[in-house]
Amino acid sequence: MKPIPLSPGADFAIRRLESLGYECYAVGGCVRDSLLGKSPNDWDLTTSATPSEMISAFSDFRVIETGAKHGTITVLYQKEPLEITTFRKDGAYADHRHPTVVTFSKTVEDDLSRRDFTVNAMAYHPEKGLIDLFDGQKDLKNGVIRCVGNADIRFHEDGLRILRAVRFASALGFELEENTAHAARNCAFLLDGIAKERIRIEWSKLLLGKKPTVILQNYPEIFLVFLPEIFPITQRTLDFLEHAPLDLPLRLSLLFDSEENAKSALLRLRYDNDTQEKTVSLIKLQKTPLDSTEVGLRRLLRNTPAETVDRYLAVLECKGIDTHTAKAALQTIVSRGDCVSLSTLAVSGNDLIALGIPAGKRVGAVLEALLDRVIDGSLPNEKNALLTALKTEKT
Ligand code: ATP
Ligand code: MG
Repeated sequence: MKPIPLSPGADFAIRRLESLGYECYAVGGCVRDSLLGKSPNDWDLTTSATPSEMISAFSDFRVIETGAKHGTITVLYQKEPLEITTFRKDGAYADHRHPTVVTFSKTVEDDLSRRDFTVNAMAYHPEKGLIDLFDGQKDLKNGVIRCVGNADIRFHEDGLRILRAVRFASALGFELEENTAHAARNCAFLLDGIAKERIRIEWSKLLLGKKPTVILQNYPEIFLVFLPEIFPITQRTLDFLEHAPLDLPLRLSLLFDSEENAKSALLRLRYDNDTQEKTVSLIKLQKTPLDSTEVGLRRLLRNTPAETVDRYLAVLECKGIDTHTAKAALQTIVSRGDCVSLSTLAVSGNDLIALGIPAGKRVGAVLEALLDRVIDGSLPNEKNALLTALKTEKT
């Protein structure tokens, strides 16, 4: 095996803790991703030092006590956040979610045994090399997600692992090992008791993975527990999703058949307002046919943020609709700086008041009427032309 290039922070933390007589390894996602040849998002470390020992070991750094009770602290090393966790051995799980007691351990073997999947249960040390007690490297090569230990027991300990199993399968383009797959289906009901925020995080990563379509098709019983609104999923929807860009509101919007269903599902999963609004407005837009004329696109831009219009066109492309004409027209509108909102209309409320229109609702209505005409191209966006039209036509 080739050595894994550690980040400067990970390398530093391992050496610092070792110089003080503790063990320390890179662990989990960063080892998995490095072995896959991808550069890790962040480096997690596991150590024999307890949280208070770590705090004194890094007393010359900024340390955030992220979850000291569970053994985790974050050290900021030259802006790189390093999550370092004491070796743990999880106790009994009373509620299928949280271990009742977190026991710190002195061995890395205990810590690797409590981890969810073989591909996530490898530790790496720059001199000692890879510690791979459960054949994670082999599963990584074969594209397999397999529970560490008995899948049924591991899912009963923490139901979220069911969704994590399919999340990693989707993200990495892997398959679930047979026993893991069987237990995931049988235990799917356990997801009912899991915090919605945790579900949302895994589900979003799954949807933005390499193979969400295969997973949605093969494991409907898992998604029915927390997202019944998206069923039944048609082959057409799966085909659209297959070609969809990696954008969360866009992908979400493809799955719901109505704004109401999307609203209640996204609210239940505690999606932020921005994601909810973007998704719902896309579902609404998908119901209206595309008008690729400049007038049609200016009308669209009047009511819809440019970013949403871009997403809408991307959705239409997933559905096999040709958007070349619309994109070219949009480009012209933007580069010419066409007026599509009151903020860039060449007359303001004050101009109208100066003309003798009484301040109040009427001013707003007249401005809107003028904007209508600028957008449909029957008046230019020029102050004189607009005021003249007002005077002569009594808009
Ligand atoms: P990503 O790159 O998506 O963050 P990751 O592997 O780092 O992937 P995390 O959710 O950040 O995933 O978890 C970090 C590590 O902690 C995992 O690799 C795994 O070893 C362990 N882990 C996380 N959640 C669980 C869980 N519910 N049960 C057991 N082990 C877990
Ligand atoms: Mg991670």
